[in-house]
Amino acid sequence: MRVTASAKTISDHLLHWYQRHARALPWRNPPGTPRPTDPAWPYRVWLSEVMLQQTTVAAVKPYFAKFIETWPTVEALAAANEADVMSAWAGLGYYSRARNLVKCAREVAARGGFPETEAELRELPGLGPYTAAAIAAIAFDERAVVVDANVERVVARLFNIDTPLPAARKVIRERAEEITPQEQAGDFAQAMMDLGSSICTSRDPKCLLCPLSGDCEALDNGEPDKLPVKAPKKAKPERKGRAFWIEREEHVWLVTRPGTGMLGGMRALPDDGWSAQADGSGGAAQSGKTESLGAVRHVFTHASLTLEVMRLDGDPSGEGEWWPIAQIEHAGLPTLFAKAARLVLAQR
Ligand code: SF4
Repeated sequence: MRVTASAKTISDHLLHWYQRHARALPWRNPPGTPRPTDPAWPYRVWLSEVMLQQTTVAAVKPYFAKFIETWPTVEALAAANEADVMSAWAGLGYYSRARNLVKCAREVAARGGFPETEAELRELPGLGPYTAAAIAAIAFDERAVVVDANVERVVARLFNIDTPLPAARKVIRERAEEITPQEQAGDFAQAMMDLGSSICTSRDPKCLLCPLSGDCEALDNGEPDKLPVKAPKKAKPERKGRAFWIEREEHVWLVTRPGTGMLGGMRALPDDGWSAQADGSGGAAQSGKTESLGAVRHVFTHASLTLEVMRLDGDPSGEGEWWPIAQIEHAGLPTLFAKAARLVLAQR
């Protein structure tokens, strides 16, 4: 490993800034303090890191509070009913995270606690390189190199790396490794995340406020907001589908989606199979008179969907349950189907 004088300067400047400006977050230990000895500490770090993937801090806070109240330890989560966890996760998106959460909690409980190294954390279900490094650094003080999109942006600018992503990732990682300090790797990782989300933002970096302005090559070059260079985005495929609103005596028919695949394991309105077939063929056959109530749009990571919502006057097919419409908020519908339900309910 090459440690340059400027690498040490960068980490010192950043940690000094973090000491004064760290965001107070419910899953965070104050900067510069010893890590908590509470056995639930790694659980809180892990839970927050999984929730924060692709999701903002503001969106995560109420979910984190609800999960910690309902399942205060990893053992409690391991013993939870998976359907209850899926339901509590509803609205946070990327539902494979919730399925992996339960799997991972069961594995950790079976092991008697979280492993403490990045390499062992990587063996747990659902933990990719970023999450394993973040938990190792934040929960266990390991000098792990934590690189998320915020860190990528800060490092690309600090070292004026103008190779487009994703090809730039290798050199960004090497530079991040150079500037990660031997001590306080957890504080350093969180400081980089805070800097990237509050100061070194993608469109409008606030360089005048930045503790690294004296170290930043992109600022010297005058165009930090042009970095990192991103490869042009491919257009997302457009999908179409139909969902059915089948109502009887103030109840609506809900199904539980198959455990794997799109929105797997979640409660939903029955649909025509749009997630399996782009043309919508392949869902459980529904028979009866239908009437279109309008459509909702939803953008997934890999595709955009226009879902037409149909009132179906007929008997449902396949397995499902009659859910009281007055309690629909508590059904744990994922955002797509919550939008569809809102569309129907606005017309009642
Ligand atoms: Fe980002 Fe500007 Fe700070 Fe450079 S000086 S790291 S571009 S905020």
